[in-house]
Amino acid sequence: MRKIKAAMAKMPMMLTCGEVEAVLLDYIEGRLSGYARFKFELHLKVCRECRDYLAAYRQAAALGAEVLGAPDDPAPGDIPEELVTAILAARDAENR
Ligand SMILES: [Zn+2]
Repeated sequence: MRKIKAAMAKMPMMLTCGEVEAVLLDYIEGRLSGYARFKFELHLKVCRECRDYLAAYRQAAALGAEVLGAPDDPAPGDIPEELVTAILAARDAENR
């Protein structure tokens, strides 16, 4: 797999991870043209790191859109009781 990636990296059509990162937003928002998009997706096929990065970015963007898209909604869900209990317990343990 590493060999394939190294060989692909030498091809002129292959983007580097940095280049992928630079156009990530354009890709998500559908602003990449056919060939740029093709190169982007080609890189994702061989690069797990960038796939993970894209997935994380999309998740964050989705969360952000949710918050921005519903400004009149009440605060998203109360903090679960168990979480509060766990945080308090951790704090107490530290103070002891
Ligand atoms: Zn990459």
